Amino acid sequence: MMTSSAAKPPLKVMLCSPRGFCAGVVRAIDTVERTLARYGKPVYVRHEIVHNRYVVESLRKKGAVFVEELDEIPDEDVPVIFSAHGVPKSVPAEAGRRNLLAIDATCPLVTKVHREAEIHFRRGREIVLIGHAGHPEVTGTMGQLAPGAVRLVQTAEEATNFVANDPSKLAYVTQTTLSVDDTADIVAALKARFPDIAGPHKEDICYATTNRQEAVKRVAPVVDAMIVVGSPNSSNSQRLKEVALRNGCPHAELLQRAEDIDWGRFGAIARLGLTAGASAPEVLIEEIIDSFAARYAVDVETVSAVEESGIFFPLPRQVRGEAAE
Ligand code: SF4
Repeated sequence: MMTSSAAKPPLKVMLCSPRGFCAGVVRAIDTVERTLARYGKPVYVRHEIVHNRYVVESLRKKGAVFVEELDEIPDEDVPVIFSAHGVPKSVPAEAGRRNLLAIDATCPLVTKVHREAEIHFRRGREIVLIGHAGHPEVTGTMGQLAPGAVRLVQTAEEATNFVANDPSKLAYVTQTTLSVDDTADIVAALKARFPDIAGPHKEDICYATTNRQEAVKRVAPVVDAMIVVGSPNSSNSQRLKEVALRNGCPHAELLQRAEDIDWGRFGAIARLGLTAGASAPEVLIEEIIDSFAARYAVDVETVSAVEESGIFFPLPRQVRGEAAE
C-alpha cells in the first residue's frame, strides 16, 4: 500500500553512468525504423533486433515482423534485417538465394571480431572463441568460418584443459559482451599454457560493456541493492548483475519493467543502485524511479565512471540519408 508523502522513508538512488543504449543498439533500432520508412511494411527482422522486449514490441507495432530463420519469411523481394548480434555467413548467402533485400544491422564492433577471426584463419591459426554457448553472437562468429575452425571456450577451467592442434598456431577472439574480469582470467589461463597465442590488439569486449561494468563496480559496494534493467537473454545485462554481486552489493536483480519489482525484496533499503543493459531504453529506468518515488522520498544521484559521448556508427548504406518517420 502506498504511504502519504510525509511518511515516505528516504531512499538514495545511485544511478550508474554510463548505462543503457550503446551506439550499436541505437544503430540497429534506427536501421529498422528507417527501413520501414523507406520500404514500407512488412519489414522482416531475423532474431530480436536487440535483446529487449520493450524495444521489440515497439518495433512490432510499427510493422516489423520478427522471425528466427529466413524460411519463416513467405515473400521474395522484401527487406530482412539481421540483428545487432551478427549472423553466420550462411544467412546472407541464403538471403541472396531467396532474393531478399538483406540489410545488416550487425554492430560494427561484432563485425570487427568476425574480421579478426578471418585474418587469423588465413594465417593458418586455430581460433579460440571465448564466449557463451547458444548466444546468437557466438553462433554468428563461429559461423564466419567452416565448422571446426573456431572452438568455443567458456571458462578458465576449459582454457586450462584446452588441447590445441598446434600450440604455436593459436589465436583467440572474444564475445563483445562478457565480464571483463572473467575474460581476463580466461585469457590469462590460455596465455599461461600457450605463450605464443595471438590476440586482439585492443580487446574485443566492447566499450559499452566495459564502461557499464565499471560504473556498477563504483556503485555496488555502497548500496543495499541494485536493479539492472534488461532482458534475461541480454548477455551484457546479465553480466552487470554478476558484477554488482561480486563487488559487494548484497542483492542484485535483473528486471524488465517496473511491474516486475517484488516489493518484498526492496522493503528495508536506504540506498539503491540502478543501471541498464546496453539494449534497455532510458524510459524503463524512469519508470523504475517513478515506482520507487511512489513509495519512498527518492533522492537521485548520478555516479559517473566514464564519459561516453560522441560514439556513433553510420547506418547500413541501404538506409543512409533518410530520416525515420
Ligand atoms: S553492446 Fe557493444 S557490441 Fe553489442 S551492440 Fe552495443 S556497442 Fe555493439
